[in-house]
Amino acid sequence: MTTQTPTERLYAIVEQGLCIGCGLCQSTAGKNKVQVVKTSRGYQQPVVVGELDHVTVDKIYDTCPGTRIEGLPDRLLEADTRVDNVWGPWRRITRGWAADAEVRYEGSTGGVLTALGIYLLESKRVDFILHAKNSVRDPSFGDRQLSFGKADVIESAGSRYGPTASLIDIGEVLDRNQAFAFIGKPCDISALRNYARHDNRVEKLVRYWLTMVCGGYLTPASTKAFYDRIGVDPEQVSALRYRGRGCPGPTRVETEDQVKEVHYLDFWGEDESMWALPFRCKICPDGIGEAADIAAADTWPGGSPNRVDSETDPGVNAIIARTRSGEELLSTAVADGALNTEYDIATDDMSIYQPHQMHKKYAVWARHQGLADEARIKPQTDRLRIEQLASELPQNMNQYQRDGTRQRIQDGKVCEPTPEIWHPV
Ligand SMILES: Cc1cc2nc3c(=O)[nH]c(=O)nc-3n(C[C@H](O)[C@H](O)[C@H](O)COP(=O)(O)OP(=O)(O)OC[C@H]3O[C@@H](n4cnc5c(N)ncnc54)[C@H](O)[C@@H]3O)c2cc1C
Repeated sequence: MTTQTPTERLYAIVEQGLCIGCGLCQSTAGKNKVQVVKTSRGYQQPVVVGELDHVTVDKIYDTCPGTRIEGLPDRLLEADTRVDNVWGPWRRITRGWAADAEVRYEGSTGGVLTALGIYLLESKRVDFILHAKNSVRDPSFGDRQLSFGKADVIESAGSRYGPTASLIDIGEVLDRNQAFAFIGKPCDISALRNYARHDNRVEKLVRYWLTMVCGGYLTPASTKAFYDRIGVDPEQVSALRYRGRGCPGPTRVETEDQVKEVHYLDFWGEDESMWALPFRCKICPDGIGEAADIAAADTWPGGSPNRVDSETDPGVNAIIARTRSGEELLSTAVADGALNTEYDIATDDMSIYQPHQMHKKYAVWARHQGLADEARIKPQTDRLRIEQLASELPQNMNQYQRDGTRQRIQDGKVCEPTPEIWHPV
């Protein structure tokens, strides 16, 4: 029996570093009770604005991707679907890109997700795409976007590495009673799959689930440090494009009187040393989008571009079709001229392109044990094989990961303040 109030229970998810700011708790509780807004630390997080009860918070714990992350629903796993311990369910993995040169150019990598979004609309398989575009309120954020035509989808191309609440009004999106495809980060996909257990319109209306392989987003403090490094006042920034327009394309910052472009490697750091992740991303058991029909990724060996090749790289995605529906979409998009494919690859190639994803998948179970040791919320996981992967590691490696998590908590590094609405100074 908890002695915490409903509000304290909700805030514990944030305070323990598990909130990714997807917005689903606002949809679950109703915006008269919870609003996901920019908070004093610069994230988008839930703030309680009305009377919360335990039943609502139970539902939030059951759907929040900070507290519950699951792999592909069993019913979507066919008898002939292969399941790799690291890379999860897959039916086909191939290298490809958007056939339309503009889409390939605008896209983050090879424009595959954008091309699929356009293809789904133009082939009338869906009425709209739920995804994310650059925020006008805060240029480093993404905003949830409904796209009804090619121009909308192209405008939303490119990765948003800042807070993005794609599910902030999923109830209203479902109220439209129209078929749609969802493109979101793997954690957003988990969230919507969780929510499907509480709202049967999700299964009826979400026809395609598309994701990107995701190593985590950028903390607001890192974004600020980036602006400082390039000598731009954050308050003056009117537009930020993280990547796209080439692969990876420049990171472009606009203010009223100047435009600055830097190489992706100068944004992240050569070894991603400037890439500070929110804690939730460090313990993510599914950066590879296991619960989606299709996951799209970069194909740089070692996980980072090199400066010389990236000047002329037109972008090639790795495309993982996980479900029958994803495999069918991939092959018809190719047959109908929306995508070009190069050659099929396998899970070992994915580990070459994404060593960081492979290492995290092995490490994460022990990190979760470290959370439990420190009486923190341990996310509930299922169908992600993380315990099995950990069992393949030597005992001392697991202990190292477990102790590392414990130490971070004991050092006070996994401790977010109670969310408060951000007020500009
Ligand atoms: C936070 C983050 C971390 C990533 N980490 C990795 C990684 O470790 N390894 C890797 O291979 N790839 C990573 N990527 C993915 C990579 O940058 C490309 O997005 C991916 O290869 C798909 O490329 P594309 O050209 O098909 O995408 P595009 O055609 O440009 O389409 C991108 C789609 O994703 C949507 N979108 C963009 N940002 C967000 C967001 N924050 N939340 C929800 N939806 C969004 C857009 O609306 C658009 O529909 C990451 C992306 C993000 C956003």
